[in-house]
Amino acid sequence: MPPLILQVALPSPLRRLFDYQAPEGVAHEQLRVGQRVRVPFGRRSMIGVIAGLSEHTEVPSGKLKPAEALIDTAPLLPASMWKLCLWTARYYQHGLGDTLNVALPVLLRQGEPALARQDRLWQLLPGAYPEHPAIQRAPKQKQAVQVLAQHPHGLSHALISQWGLNRVALEALEEKGLVQRIEQSPHHVAEPLPLLRQAPLTANDEQQAALDAILGKTGFNAWLLEGVTGSGKTEVYLQAIEQCLRSGHQALVLIPEIGLTPQTLERFQQRFSAPVVILHSGLNDRERLDAWIAAREGEAGIVIGTRSAIFTPLARPGLIIVDEEHDLSYKQQEGLRYNARDLAVYRAHLEDVAIILGSATPSLESLHNVEQGRYQLLRLSQRAGNAKPPSFQCLDIRSRPLEGGLSRPLTLLIGDHLNKGNQVLVFINRRGFAPTLMCHDCGWIAECKRCDARMTVHQSPAHLHCHHCNSQRPLDKHCPKCQGTDLRPLGAGTERTEEYLNERFPDFPVLRIDRESMSRKKAMQQMMETIQSAQPCILVGTQMLAKGHHFPDVTLVAILDADGGLFSADFRGPERMAQMITQVAGRAGRAEKPGQVIIQTHMAEHPLLIELTEQGYAAIAKRELAERAVSQLPPYRFMALLRAEANNAYAANQFLEEALQQAEQLVAQHQLDEIDLLGPVPSPMERRAGRYRAQLLLQAAQRSTLHQVVHLLLPILEQHPESRRVRWSIDIDPLDMF
Ligand code: ADP
Ligand code: ZN
Ligand code: ZN
Repeated sequence: MPPLILQVALPSPLRRLFDYQAPEGVAHEQLRVGQRVRVPFGRRSMIGVIAGLSEHTEVPSGKLKPAEALIDTAPLLPASMWKLCLWTARYYQHGLGDTLNVALPVLLRQGEPALARQDRLWQLLPGAYPEHPAIQRAPKQKQAVQVLAQHPHGLSHALISQWGLNRVALEALEEKGLVQRIEQSPHHVAEPLPLLRQAPLTANDEQQAALDAILGKTGFNAWLLEGVTGSGKTEVYLQAIEQCLRSGHQALVLIPEIGLTPQTLERFQQRFSAPVVILHSGLNDRERLDAWIAAREGEAGIVIGTRSAIFTPLARPGLIIVDEEHDLSYKQQEGLRYNARDLAVYRAHLEDVAIILGSATPSLESLHNVEQGRYQLLRLSQRAGNAKPPSFQCLDIRSRPLEGGLSRPLTLLIGDHLNKGNQVLVFINRRGFAPTLMCHDCGWIAECKRCDARMTVHQSPAHLHCHHCNSQRPLDKHCPKCQGTDLRPLGAGTERTEEYLNERFPDFPVLRIDRESMSRKKAMQQMMETIQSAQPCILVGTQMLAKGHHFPDVTLVAILDADGGLFSADFRGPERMAQMITQVAGRAGRAEKPGQVIIQTHMAEHPLLIELTEQGYAAIAKRELAERAVSQLPPYRFMALLRAEANNAYAANQFLEEALQQAEQLVAQHQLDEIDLLGPVPSPMERRAGRYRAQLLLQAAQRSTLHQVVHLLLPILEQHPESRRVRWSIDIDPLDMF
């Protein structure tokens, strides 16, 4: 029999597998694709996953090493998830080893057994009772029996001291045959509980129609649930999940950012008694692995997580939900640049289950998929309950003085809302105190030494901070150009707006919500408590505020500066801006009280603003899609972006010039048509963190031709002598051109 060769995926940037002999003493029948092995790699040993078994290898037999050990007795992933990982690697043109590295929990990558940590419990045996003659002279043991009698399913080892028990007494009872030790999964459910903890709301007509459509079909169906903010999409999710659980299946829910949506999570936990596993950033590696295993073993009824949760295996998949499907956080912006929303659709297809993509502002990609018949559209056009849609108004701030970023009419309006006992939300998409530090004498501006960008002024503590490379330095005291001392922060960020509002409205709490203020533990929770207390207050924050929150007492939403979005160089600029404004505005008037939205702008006549305030997001999306079709842009075209960065601009550009030549040759050689190669050009921010960046855009009418050329090009680039000095990456379906 010829030797069996293991083709192993290793966490390496190289897009290839590595061949090994089977580990010594392991029979061939024990080896399967999808098991982990430990292998020697250079001087180290590494954990990899068997991706193929073959009888052939190119490696000369003297050089072929045996794997050190087989780690798993069975494949780690169910077949559908293995296929998903293979597809992800191929689609995003990424190495399989590194793809698995992203997909698997850290501890599995380090070789930990794929077994749940067991809860170790003490449990009373039948026949043990406090008056048992064997313990009448042992008060500690008697007490232990009394306590355990109250815990028929066992008491965790970790909790015995809290109940005043000790190990010695329990061991003595074990000797006497009165108690036993048991082990079980922490997600174990002792008895089947009623499914619901809380009754569902009575669905309104639109919600019911959506549910009837979704639940009326079996197998793979992709639904786009387009529901205006506050229309009760979450209620549709909850009721769809309920049916999924009733039929004995599990549901996977993706949400954009977990720390920011405690309310949404609570709604899931309050509704169901089935175990809900939440994959949040606060989990340690062990907890993450336990959750992963609980999902894979079918113990978790509902799994909720952000982007990477798409890779969580389920024993009995039944439904996938992607909330706020337009959100950019679903796209990973480094390494394996996958889009979890798109993977979710493919996964639903592989697992033959329904997927619901929900949003008030669906991405143009998803709307296009509806046009093409790939997704089915469900609409919730009304707010649920008694809430009314908010009214919009643009406030022209040309030649009006601004304080803390606010015009006087806006400040007065804020006062009105507060005095009526309502809450106000002020949105400003810039962190820090001011976006610019300028010399009033000569016009010098503080710039980052490592990026083509300005430094942001921060207070408390006072310093300059580059939001692109994170470098920091003290505030300048003198202008380095003219030695002047009149250096002024220009413009407003969240800190400045907060400061101004605090001075102006000393009787009302001002809560700032941005990355800095929320980095404190519990900050979000404290903020939520204030908001839920319904007392009048002002919330000042960045787009963190826009994500899915339900603030029933906010009646005024003020958007301090809409103009940035009107000048974006990115073809997705208008889509993004319309989504952002609609989402922020959607926080207003979500309950009984009507909501008002004010947009401060210097361009009140801008057609996009007029369209947005008068016709809403859907109209903009429709027109933008038509324009994309005319100008041959995504989603009507397919893009891949090859980025390169190096210590000097020449090297980055030169690398891409050669990539361009190679790509041109491939296109000619394989007679690929309708493919455009654009560039190379310097990136919009050419220098970042001290490196020069450039990009080459590949765009095609057919996805297949694009993939073919990229697939052929990358191995050539990997071999390229410059590829060591230039850091480069490929981004399939890029969402961001920077
Ligand atoms: P969305 O996710 O679409 O923004 P939510 O699901 O947060 O909207 O719902 C907004 C509010 O409407 C919530 O307070 C929710 O409890 C309430 N709601 C949803 N559906 C109903 C319903 N059928 N009847 C009454 N209230 C509802
Ligand atoms: Zn100066
Ligand atoms: Zn910088």
